[in-house]
Amino acid sequence: MKTVNIAIDGPSGAGKSSISKAVATDLGFIHVDTGAMYRAIGLYAIRNDCLAPEAIERVIGEITVELKFLGGAQRVMLCGEDVTDYIRTPEVSMAASKVSAVPAVRAHLLDLQKKIAAENNIIMDGRDIGSVVLPHADLKIFLTASAEERASRRYLELREKPNCPPYEEILKDIEQRDYNDTHRKIAPLTVPEDAVTVDSSNMGFNEVVERITALIREVME
Ligand code: C5P
Repeated sequence: MKTVNIAIDGPSGAGKSSISKAVATDLGFIHVDTGAMYRAIGLYAIRNDCLAPEAIERVIGEITVELKFLGGAQRVMLCGEDVTDYIRTPEVSMAASKVSAVPAVRAHLLDLQKKIAAENNIIMDGRDIGSVVLPHADLKIFLTASAEERASRRYLELREKPNCPPYEEILKDIEQRDYNDTHRKIAPLTVPEDAVTVDSSNMGFNEVVERITALIREVME
């Protein structure tokens, strides 16, 4: 059976994961958050002190990352341990950004991502989904927003939590990750040629979900 594959790429903090999750629920698709896989490897590198490219390259063959889908929600398993609740810290974000520039790390995750897409109707989000992982996706979307808008959304989300960093620090972090993701040699973040760009800077959450759901329904007709 041919599966439906939707690729959603875009920079950090553009809302790819929460939007993809909502759209996937509406359509009965599985949402695959590939950033969580890089985060799991980033967490491994922090825990085992192997953040340097040569160090992570040496051990990548021993690291297993699996995704489980419980009631549609993705859980990330790192060497058999469910690490879903430990991978959203700023430290892990930066580690993920670093390890994701290592070719051996990308190759390690690519097979797994392709296999999930071949077997399921999916919305897969990341940085290189339309360009590398699913070049023949049924639809490619590039979801973006200005760095300032992304930083202020993140700030509003964190504001009530203890140790919320100042807005300026969040913005700097986002700009640094944008730079890392667009300047790395392998699979840099780019707008795929045949992608539809959705700029959410001036759009509400539901508006973006509706727009993307409508685009997907069009290609499924
Ligand atoms: O999307 P998220 O912020 O969770 O991704 C964490 C990091 O993983 C990103 O900063 C990016 O460097 C990397 N990543 C990637 N390719 C993907 C998904 C994420 O390089 N397909």
